[in-house]
Amino acid sequence: MDKYGFSTKSIHSGNEIDINMVTKAKTMPIYETSVFEYDSIEQVDDYLKGNKDNYMYTRLGNPNQRALEELITSLEEGEAGAAFSSGMAAISAVLLSKLSCGDHMISTSVAYGGTTSLLKKELERFGIEISFIELTSEEEIEKNIKPNTKLIYSEIASNPLVRVANMELLSLVSKKHGLKLVIDNTFMTPILYQPLKYGAHMVVHSTTKYINGHSDATGGLAVGEKDWIQDCKRVINNIGAMISPFEAWLTYRGAKTLAVRMERHSNNATEVAKYLQSNNRVNKVFYPALKSHPDYYFAKDMFHNGFGGMMSFEIENNIEKIDKIIKGLKLIKFAPSLAGIATTISHPAKTSHRSLTQEQLAKLDINLGTIRLSVGIEDVDDIISDLDEALKRI
Ligand SMILES: *Cc1c(COP(=O)(O)O)cnc(C)c1O
Repeated sequence: MDKYGFSTKSIHSGNEIDINMVTKAKTMPIYETSVFEYDSIEQVDDYLKGNKDNYMYTRLGNPNQRALEELITSLEEGEAGAAFSSGMAAISAVLLSKLSCGDHMISTSVAYGGTTSLLKKELERFGIEISFIELTSEEEIEKNIKPNTKLIYSEIASNPLVRVANMELLSLVSKKHGLKLVIDNTFMTPILYQPLKYGAHMVVHSTTKYINGHSDATGGLAVGEKDWIQDCKRVINNIGAMISPFEAWLTYRGAKTLAVRMERHSNNATEVAKYLQSNNRVNKVFYPALKSHPDYYFAKDMFHNGFGGMMSFEIENNIEKIDKIIKGLKLIKFAPSLAGIATTISHPAKTSHRSLTQEQLAKLDINLGTIRLSVGIEDVDDIISDLDEALKRI
């Protein structure tokens, strides 16, 4: 390097720092590079033949992205996986790779707001027909199947009432009619449920939530049929919504503790749900481990490792009282996201479900008194006493 000028040196020095290293990095380094170098035309040919260890351009593939893809593929026990810049990018790739103008799909009527918006504002514009229905009865689903129906889309559990997807029913109907079944498994993660084992063809995740877990990176994943994943990658390479090396690295690092976190989330949430049920200021508690939950009768047979950290409860239908609770909480923060290590609360009627009318809210069993709780992994006694102090104020 000595013979080069400052500009040249500052660009090229240090790039080959690991070339002669005797020992290799124990954990994944961050490949924060947009492009890879070739020594020869043979190496280009090798890349184009599909050698997985050969990289060209980060939009098309990067070791950090691949590490995350391999991790989710093994956790969900799928054929192949793909990583994306967000949960929405993952859902977009899965749907855009399968549906064309003139096709029809069936979606749960209680999907995540961003998903509903993607379907209504974008997919419908490109001539894709969508029926939004409650996926709770065979007759209702079959009534909506048409000759051009391609797939059924559901979330493993809904926000905020944690209504659980009846996988036995969805799997049966999709099989009977030759439809693809896509499940958003964000709320449960493969630690608590593996949809591919029970009839799903494709699973999507917002890794922004439990998989990363630390509320410091946005990302998404899809895992399922190999050919479909390849099509997803083509779509996302063309759109350009791949995950960045740093976000992939953070998510990969976060995911290392997923199993212990999910166990703690589930145990804490069960304790919190029992406490809320016993509090006379609380009218209802929605947590699928409780016998009182409308989906308990099949949820108990689906979730053998725990029921996750998401729940809702209902106090008096009164916005001033909600405000008193929010202001009374010290440890638990009011944050309109979920599924991180810290316990957070949200108010669906004023945040995630704000665009719905009173009538639509009532149909979903949500009112101004509904509070969504994402139970974290703190000491459970501290979570409960924070809630108890706040509830005493009303
Ligand atoms: C947050 C979320 C998404 C969207 O994920 P982003 O990472 O925010 O794009 C999709 N589905 C569910 C169930 C979510 O909670």
